[in-house]
Amino acid sequence: MNQNTNVPNHAIDLRSDTVTLPTADMYEAIATARLGDDGLDADPTARELEAATAELLGKEDGVYFPSCTMANLATIMVQAARHDIVLAQEDSHIYGAERGGAVLTGAFYQPIRGECGAMDLDLLSDALDSRRSKLRTALVCLENTHNSAGGTVLPVEYMRDVAALARAAGAAVHLDGARMFNAAAYLGVPASALAEHADTVAVCLSKGLGAPMGAVLACPAALAGRIRTMRRALGGGQRQVGIAAAAGLVAIRSMVARLGEDHETAARLSAQLREQAPALRVSVPQTNIVMVDTSQTGRPAQQWAADLAQSGVLVRPWSRNVLRCVTHRHIVSTDVDQACQVFAALAQGR
Ligand SMILES: *Cc1c(COP(=O)(O)O)cnc(C)c1O
Repeated sequence: MNQNTNVPNHAIDLRSDTVTLPTADMYEAIATARLGDDGLDADPTARELEAATAELLGKEDGVYFPSCTMANLATIMVQAARHDIVLAQEDSHIYGAERGGAVLTGAFYQPIRGECGAMDLDLLSDALDSRRSKLRTALVCLENTHNSAGGTVLPVEYMRDVAALARAAGAAVHLDGARMFNAAAYLGVPASALAEHADTVAVCLSKGLGAPMGAVLACPAALAGRIRTMRRALGGGQRQVGIAAAAGLVAIRSMVARLGEDHETAARLSAQLREQAPALRVSVPQTNIVMVDTSQTGRPAQQWAADLAQSGVLVRPWSRNVLRCVTHRHIVSTDVDQACQVFAALAQGR
């Protein structure tokens, strides 16, 4: 692993599940994919991926995107008019990392406070109350699992409640499901049970599922045409895109079932860190993300990340005193054990 990055071969790379490399099956599928011109009259492998993902999520159609960011953006442009309000949890990716898209969407992004990645339902109700705003709220966004909250899972009932509030107020629901298969695995439900409570659902193929790139936006048939037009306007129309979609098909068909392994390695990482480095405050993960609070060690996250990297453990400083560690298919239990030893040694000032 890591042949194609500037990190040492032996590095234990916990920066993100996006560092995963294509599997042998993906390379094989890429080499043999049927291809067409997706900008002209459709690439057959991209169409197959779109249909397979839509079916898995219980939606009528799917649109393949170069990234989940673009899938979210195109959805907001189709579902919200200029000057409409888009609601999202305050730490969500759409609000925290993507609201710069307002230069294109013209929408008014409004954050809703809430714990563990879940918007507070009373605050959401207030925000949806049309008497309180002169602008129309067009879209409510959910994120499951929730990245910044540490891979936390929104239960099905919570999603149903949000959808009911949104629909009663005439707003559509979008699920930023970049890691929704992790959520479904944690809950032990089919992904469609989560997707049911959103009109549109974006899933990332290039995170824990291991494809090199791409995301699919699953949606009602009535929206697919406008979503495709918006994708083209954003420069997201590609030609022999089946090259990438072929790997995405392998991801959807054969990588979903193994995500539980990443949850086990994350649980192991968390348990061992809590035992071996008690000065760190370590989250108990539901899925594949562990957040490590370094504030009691007197060293900020940046310093920790630099020191860990010196010993071959790569993590992401997430905020001043928090590190994010993500498990994925290249991280096995012995990597976790080794990483914990490095953490423990640094915590003891060695
Ligand atoms: C990674 C991520 C995205 C963006 O995905 P890209 O494919 O990198 O654009 C969006 N939302 C969430 C929750 C994510 O974790």
